Amino acid sequence: MDESYIEQFRNANIKTAILQPGNIQALEEILNKKITTYSKFKGEFKRGRIPKRKELLLLLKEIKPGVDIYLGVSEVSIPGVNYTKIDYTKYYEGLAKRTVLPMLTIPFLTLTLNSNGIGLYPSLIFGLPPLLLSLLDTKNIINDITEERCGSSEYNFVHKNITLERNSEYGLISTLAHEYAHHVQNEKKIPKNGYFSFFNEGQARSVQRQVSVNKWAQNDDFCFMLGSLDYDLSELRATYVWLTKYLRKKANTFLTTEAMTQRGPFDLNYVQTHMIPTPHALGNAFFSILEAREGTGIHKEIMAGRYQLPSF
Ligand SMILES: [Zn+2]
Repeated sequence: MDESYIEQFRNANIKTAILQPGNIQALEEILNKKITTYSKFKGEFKRGRIPKRKELLLLLKEIKPGVDIYLGVSEVSIPGVNYTKIDYTKYYEGLAKRTVLPMLTIPFLTLTLNSNGIGLYPSLIFGLPPLLLSLLDTKNIINDITEERCGSSEYNFVHKNITLERNSEYGLISTLAHEYAHHVQNEKKIPKNGYFSFFNEGQARSVQRQVSVNKWAQNDDFCFMLGSLDYDLSELRATYVWLTKYLRKKANTFLTTEAMTQRGPFDLNYVQTHMIPTPHALGNAFFSILEAREGTGIHKEIMAGRYQLPSF
């Protein structure tokens, strides 16, 4: 892609584009629609199945043609795709920290207290609570360890390879679409440096959303939509909060509190700490506003080098 053309999508320009007063209403309308969708299907959440490693390439080949059409690109190669390697050192460390060590407290306390002549019952009184607490917390322990051993999903620009966190197909397919969008950006020579992160992450979120919508329609299963709706609600809400604060306008409480998903607090906390949303959130807001205003056809225009960002 032409270097002088892509310059208009630098982070600084995208930030200026978002900081327009008219975008408060635009974000309110988008958020309202997403909250309605989320609330309507709230009862349908399912866990979903984790695809096998050998299925990943098939899934990528299934979504690739649709993404290429959506972005109006051709001659894009198929990147490698795999699950993130399990880091066994971290896995066993996590396991030991959370289960074995608390359990060792019982014999340790029993021995110590008995040798001091305190007796078995008091030692059980001291030793059982940590054991019970660690057993009660088993679900969280397993989740934590699984997360630690898996790492996060990413696209490697040098090796042209996607690695994915093990996840149910509902979340996994939308993440796969996101990482494949980074591969398209790489092949089409869109700069991957930090100055273009809002553009890169925002476009990847749009692709993610498009694939989720399609999978939802094809399978008549709303859970496929959740993989991107969770990010959309959380990131657009955080950007909305930031924008209203920046422009000294009152935020609509319904929009800032309703349909709080699992990810919601992360993006809100990020804004509070950093005084600006994540690059993903700003990019997502930028493209969501453009799509609402001009339609999803903008993606083809952008990739064809024909789009001119309105001046602000
Ligand atoms: Zn990304």
